[in-house]
Amino acid sequence: MPDDYPVHIEVAPNVHLVRGSNRARFPEANCLLVDETPLTLVDAGTNMEHISRSLSDLGHSFTDVEQIILTHFHIDHKGHAAEIQKISNCEIICHPLAKKGVETIGGIVEVYGIKEHRFYEPWREYVESIMPYVFSEYEVTGTFKDKEPIIVGDTQLIPIHTPGHTHDHTIIGINNFETLLLVDIDLTQFGPWYGNVVSNLSDFRESMSKVIALEPKIGISSHLLDPVEDGLIEKLQKFSAVFDIREEKIIKSVCEGLTTLDDLANAPTIYPRLPFVPYIIFEEYMLLKHIEDMTERGIIEYDDETIYLK
Ligand SMILES: [Zn+2]
Repeated sequence: MPDDYPVHIEVAPNVHLVRGSNRARFPEANCLLVDETPLTLVDAGTNMEHISRSLSDLGHSFTDVEQIILTHFHIDHKGHAAEIQKISNCEIICHPLAKKGVETIGGIVEVYGIKEHRFYEPWREYVESIMPYVFSEYEVTGTFKDKEPIIVGDTQLIPIHTPGHTHDHTIIGINNFETLLLVDIDLTQFGPWYGNVVSNLSDFRESMSKVIALEPKIGISSHLLDPVEDGLIEKLQKFSAVFDIREEKIIKSVCEGLTTLDDLANAPTIYPRLPFVPYIIFEEYMLLKHIEDMTERGIIEYDDETIYLK
C-alpha cells in the first residue's frame, strides 16, 4: 500500500528530505538528498524505492549519486549505502569514530556491545530478517571533521559532533545552525535512546544543552515525517527532560522492590513494552547507563547485583 504522504519535500534550497516508510520509524529513517554537485545523500536508511523516486523526480538516478554522508553507524541510518555505492561508486564519508561500526557486521557487534549477550543470536536473526542489506561490507572512503563544513555546490553541510546516543552521533547544520538535521535527537515520544556500549548518558545531556544553545529554528528529525518549527526549543527541552523522568521511574521501582537490573529490565522500565525479545539488550544497556550515572552522582549504590538507594 502506498504511503499517504509525499515521499520528499524541500527543506532548504536544493535540500530535500526523503521520508521513510513506516512513518520514518525504525527500521527506516529519513535521509536528505542534496541536489547539487557532488550529488549527495545524508544517510541512506530510507527504503530504495523512496530514494529512487526522489532521485528520478529531480532528474537523477542511482548512478548519479556521488557522495553519502553518514551521521552515525546505526543500521537504520547507514541502511542502503553499500548497495548505492555498488551502483554508483560513490564516496561514503562519516565521523572517524563511526568507521568501525559502519564497515563490518563484526564492527557493529563490537560498538553495540552485544557479542557475548545471551540474546545475541535472536538479535542477529531479527535484524537479518528485516534488514538483510546491512550485513554486507561497507567501504568508507573518507571522514569529516567536527564543525568543518562539507561543501556541496552552493550548500554547506556543517557536522556537529553530538555524542551520547552513540559516540559518533553527528547532527548536521544546513548552511548555518538555524536549520539542523537533528538525526536521533529525534523528538519522538519515546525520548532519547542510549542502548549501546558506546552510548553515554552524561554526554547525551551535554549534547542536548549544546543543541539548545545553538537556538535552531527548524529541526529535522530522522524519525518524524515533518521538520519541527513550532516550539522547537520547548520540544528539545521536553526531550531532554526524559532523562530525569526515567531516573525518577527507576527510583520509584527500586522503592517498590525491583532492586536488580533483571527486575528493572523485565518490567520493562525504559521501554513502554518490549516488541521483540532482543530489545531487552537495549533496555538493559539504558538501565546500566542510568545505574552508572546515578552511582557517580551519589544517588544509589550498586554492587553488581543489587541497587541500594542512598
Ligand atoms: Zn541511531
